[in-house]
Amino acid sequence: MSEKTSIAFRTKCVHAGNGIDTETGAIRRPLIMANSYRLPEDASTLNWSDADQLLYTRNTSANQRYLQEKLAALEGGEDCVVLATGVAALAGVFFTFLDKDAHVVCSNVSYIAVYRLLQEYFPDKYDIETTLVDTADPEQVKQAIRPNTRLIHIETPGNPTTRVTDIAAISRIAKEAGALLTVDSTFASPYLQQPLALGADLVIHSLTKYINGHGDAMGGAVIGCKELVDKIKRQAMVNLGGAISPFNAWMIMRGVVTLPLRMRQHSESALKIAQFLESSPAVAFVAYPGLASHPQHEIAKKQMSMFSGVIAFGLKADVATHNQFVNSLTLIVPAVSIGHDESLMVYTGPTDERNHFYPAEFQNGHLRFSVGLEEADDIIADLIQAFTICGLY
Ligand SMILES: *Cc1c(COP(=O)(O)O)cnc(C)c1O
Repeated sequence: MSEKTSIAFRTKCVHAGNGIDTETGAIRRPLIMANSYRLPEDASTLNWSDADQLLYTRNTSANQRYLQEKLAALEGGEDCVVLATGVAALAGVFFTFLDKDAHVVCSNVSYIAVYRLLQEYFPDKYDIETTLVDTADPEQVKQAIRPNTRLIHIETPGNPTTRVTDIAAISRIAKEAGALLTVDSTFASPYLQQPLALGADLVIHSLTKYINGHGDAMGGAVIGCKELVDKIKRQAMVNLGGAISPFNAWMIMRGVVTLPLRMRQHSESALKIAQFLESSPAVAFVAYPGLASHPQHEIAKKQMSMFSGVIAFGLKADVATHNQFVNSLTLIVPAVSIGHDESLMVYTGPTDERNHFYPAEFQNGHLRFSVGLEEADDIIADLIQAFTICGLY
């Protein structure tokens, strides 16, 4: 598989990491729910922290390996480590590469656990400081670099504003500073964006979202060169215990097969729905990287092949009406997460502690909308009936 580098992405989604089961001849890798593997006859020289040998499922498991092989192929990376959740992957990166007194530059729009870890946990416990900047402006990243900057962490598109950061531009700054560039590419998935090819050192995914795609298993992954990924395996998995369940790895392996088909549909529907929202008198603003009105639309066009399924928007309404709107939806489900088969929506109010980092139009709170795989016209009809109930249409 790895020798045929010209093989298409879609083909890799089907075949990478799969193979014939040697015992039964089954043409799919089996689910192996075992905590332990038979030791070699002479176990006296084994390294019990080895992350490469099948010993104990916290060191590595068969299903984890198959999934790692598939994801490394999809991101075009040398190696991959799969962990229990997206946050385990992010924390694994930070715990592995941040030494005492290191400095981090991080996007001020990021997943909430990243904000907590870098703004509260790491400075309080280890004197590791983080400067939060608007990474859509590479100049701000450059200005924030210090002699001890070890890591630049970006999320693009960013959760929840959909802000897009120019990966290639930030990678040039990271290289000049001798810092690692880590990119949370969860919103895009490897089908729409390939950060390693744009100069990132490590790509991080919450597999819980688009890669599994069915809202029924959690996982996280980090992909990059073997040297860096090996360190994360030993720290985050073996020593910190963030190993994924073989069952979840098997579920995600199954989900990712249809990633290209799903991402095309999510992206196509989200663009149509974003255009509808932009034209609706009920709507105060829409943020979607595929709209010409998105502030980083040109960068998004440059580094993404389509614009994925997440839209942020707000209504010309108060907090109570926003809540009424979400509760009036019949198809779209009020729930957190993104990248599921069903459409999901969550309202974050104006008192959110990170609101001040967001663009001015977000100050009245915002709706984060993960467009699912339903017929786009059915989703639009659901939005219209909820607007009508709220007296907005
Ligand atoms: C959901 C999410 C995470 C966290 O992933 P979990 O699997 O929930 O731990 C990290 N980054 C982004 C961008 C996310 O959307």
